[in-house]
Amino acid sequence: MSSVKALEEVLKDWEAVIGLEIHAELTTLDTKMFCGCKLEHGAAPNTHTCPVCLGLPGALPVPNKAAIESIVLAGLATNCDIEKHSMFYRKNYMYPDMAKNFQTTQGPIAFCMRGSLDFEVDGAGVAERIDVDGLGPGESRGNVTMTDDGYVAHVGITRIHMEEDAGKMVHIGGDEGRIAGATHSLVDYNRAGMPLIELVTEPDLRTPEEARLFMEKLRQIYLAIGISDCSMEEGSMRCDGNVSLRRRGTAQLGTKTELKNMNSFKNLHDGLAFEIRRQAEVLEEGGIIYQETRHWDPTAKRTIVMRVKETADDYRLFPEPDLAPFDLSDEFIEGVRTRLPELPDQKKRRYRDAFGLSAYDARHLIEHRATADFFEAAMACANDVSLAKPLANLVINDVTARMNADADFDLASSPLTPQRACDLVKLLAADDISSKQGKEVFAAIIDDDADPAAIVEARGMRQVSDTAAIEAVIDQVIAENADAVERYRAGNAKLIGFFVGQCMKAMRGQGNPKVINRILAQKLK
Ligand code: ADP
Ligand code: MG
Ligand code: ZN
Repeated sequence: MSSVKALEEVLKDWEAVIGLEIHAELTTLDTKMFCGCKLEHGAAPNTHTCPVCLGLPGALPVPNKAAIESIVLAGLATNCDIEKHSMFYRKNYMYPDMAKNFQTTQGPIAFCMRGSLDFEVDGAGVAERIDVDGLGPGESRGNVTMTDDGYVAHVGITRIHMEEDAGKMVHIGGDEGRIAGATHSLVDYNRAGMPLIELVTEPDLRTPEEARLFMEKLRQIYLAIGISDCSMEEGSMRCDGNVSLRRRGTAQLGTKTELKNMNSFKNLHDGLAFEIRRQAEVLEEGGIIYQETRHWDPTAKRTIVMRVKETADDYRLFPEPDLAPFDLSDEFIEGVRTRLPELPDQKKRRYRDAFGLSAYDARHLIEHRATADFFEAAMACANDVSLAKPLANLVINDVTARMNADADFDLASSPLTPQRACDLVKLLAADDISSKQGKEVFAAIIDDDADPAAIVEARGMRQVSDTAAIEAVIDQVIAENADAVERYRAGNAKLIGFFVGQCMKAMRGQGNPKVINRILAQKLK
């Protein structure tokens, strides 16, 4: 695809239309969707199975109430209407990973319908959204409202429905576990019948970056409400990306392709970006897009056809005769609502209102639950709103850098306790140590498991901020350098550096440069 245009070029002529289907396994539950088998990650193959999840004749399913509570919680957290009356259907297909030969799923009416999510786009992602070019902060167009550093996009959620996972196939004898060239395949039914929820968005997303940010936002929410561990690597959260193109200024939707099982935020973004460029090339050459399922190969950096899209008829969807329709009560729904914790948007607002932080700082602090919890614990130790900004800086810059650099670094159990972070920030705020020394202390807290005060003491770092001591040194430096003082007063302002250097030398580097500068300026007037 070397001849193919860059994404930015394509997006000038074409509008991309993107809708996501996002699966999340309810990993925090104890048992499967329709039987009492334990959910246990990494258990020996086929040790958590029973007649129900193996689909043996005569076995009857019983819905997992905790799973229904989880999906209702997800719906409430994403502004969905909760449908009191819904039911399960059989989606029929024959494949060895599903011993029943059908998947139990929901039909036209799901537990959660008609929701929405807002998310912020800033940085490089803003440039991809060229149709809002020229709008100022507060102005809106379509589903977008501009902010000071980007925009907020409003995206509709069609539904969230309940279903069950299939077993896991392992192909033996081929390349890298692929089915091609394999001599035989093994099936592990531990995962069969695992509770799974699928969220479907309206085709409201317009750029690969929006797709990525929507997915991140949803993941934050699911983690906050505690329904899944949302691990993209381990497949407990996975995403299909649907995308089509239409000429800018036209309204009719084009034919879409579907990218299956994107297992990282980067793959989702890059796969969609590639697919947009590929479709543009096909369309510009007068070709047509076939509705098909494609696979993104991140190594080869291209998408390849997996299969032509099956239609709903192929699945012979029909009502599940072994499960009664649901009739959720108001008490049940309101009971679930009381379990809603503070959601990421609410937390962001609180950080701005209670701590006076900027939108940027609040957004980055809440990005990970670990950093948000840590920040709040440190603020509790500090008990001083004026330390919010320096603490936020410490968490956003130093702590995040450490987390990124060292995958094994676990903030919750590291020697960097909230109390130590708070003590370090206090030393900095009081000018007891310089910002450069602050970095050294930060590293030493983690590497030596020591308190900031002890590190400062042991390394003789404490800056002398005592003004009387500094004044005495300055008086002496001025007395010993009468000619320099004269030249300074005659207009050679650069000499201030010389005086600061002399004072620092006299104090063996321990003087507080801010205080020295301030007093020197007064005395040399
Ligand atoms: P399918 O029947 O192929 O599964 P759905 O109507 O169920 O299609 O939609 C699946 C996903 O694809 C949804 O997220 C929806 O928003 C999105 N979608 C539907 N039509 C288009 C289109 N023309 N272009 C891009 N995305 C689309
Ligand atoms: Mg569909
Ligand atoms: Zn079972």
